[in-house]
Amino acid sequence: MIYLDNHATTPVDPRVLDAMLPYLKERFGNAASRSHRLGWEAEEAVERARAQVARLVGADPREIVFTSGASEANNLALKGAAGRRGEKNHVVASPLEHPSVRETVEHLAARGCDVTWLPVDREGRVRPDDVAGAITPRTFLVTVMAANNEIGTVQPVREIGRIAAECGILFHTDATQAVGKVALDVRADGVHLAALTAHKIFGPKGSGALYVRQGTALEPQTHGGGQERGLRSGTLNVPGIVGLGAACDICRTGREGEAARLARLRDRLEGLLAAAEARANGPREGRLPNNLHISFPGVDAESLMLAVPEVAVSSGSACASGSMEISRVLKAIGMRPDAARGSIRFGLGRFNTEAEIDEAARLFVAAATRLRKVARR
Ligand code: PLP
Repeated sequence: MIYLDNHATTPVDPRVLDAMLPYLKERFGNAASRSHRLGWEAEEAVERARAQVARLVGADPREIVFTSGASEANNLALKGAAGRRGEKNHVVASPLEHPSVRETVEHLAARGCDVTWLPVDREGRVRPDDVAGAITPRTFLVTVMAANNEIGTVQPVREIGRIAAECGILFHTDATQAVGKVALDVRADGVHLAALTAHKIFGPKGSGALYVRQGTALEPQTHGGGQERGLRSGTLNVPGIVGLGAACDICRTGREGEAARLARLRDRLEGLLAAAEARANGPREGRLPNNLHISFPGVDAESLMLAVPEVAVSSGSACASGSMEISRVLKAIGMRPDAARGSIRFGLGRFNTEAEIDEAARLFVAAATRLRKVARR
């Protein structure tokens, strides 16, 4: 199988697995059991990973809180900030967010927060001026994802961070898809809260982190033993955390070269798919280097995927729940339902080769041509 669904998840890099294995076997200690060597080893490994995560995003290690992934990190950020909002009760949010942000914002709205959903342009980009215009004296938080998981739009994070700083409000960004692919420096970008997850960067599933800028007050959402400075109780997933740290380290050292390689392969794929009259959606500039969201006019994406079982991709139209509704993201950028239903999301990754890209393109072009012929009969 040619795996081109790296926005959904990624395989674990063998180097990450090697780093994790000792913590699943002989070094199985609980990082909170500080009365013996096994506990100390686990604690040391967790602190090493904390520094590795911090380094990738430009944070101080004390600002990293380990979680079970980005969904939990987003929930902690948004509900946690709302729990310490004082008199303020207004949130400004982008409409393209992953459900772990969107539904959490809706949850806050159901509990009395006012929400302004920002407009986006046809590339799915939020305009910083619209953010500035939406902020009121009652706003306590702005949330805009760093990069979109469907069409790959990279948002003007730094400009939004500057506006949030000028207004003295919190800026949360879901950096899940951006981390390791585009430059992210939480300090320079003016971010207070940023979520990330290991399984999108060739680490294990069930391990993620929230960056919490020093001095940012959050209400804990999980109570118990007081781990993670009381912000997230529960025994730490030491092997998962070690995997996250190793995955971050690999991304940091090779990021720019890898981004250029992915963009080149992605553009090659787009060029080859032109033989099937496929047209790319989303932005031309300011897009994740591994993202190609592309429509095959006159072809149904579900049929196309069934016709190419050798390649793992996602339908570009189905929302996260797998329903046949076109996604909110595609609606928000004004895509016609028929174009959306004929679209496929290709997500390239570290282990894809040029030969795989050529073979995937060949299979999709052949299948699209075949399906069109059948439809015409
Ligand atoms: N945010 C974005 C943009 C995502 O793409 C995903 C994963 O699909 C998540 C959050 C959720 O991450 P996790 O699976 O670690 O909870």
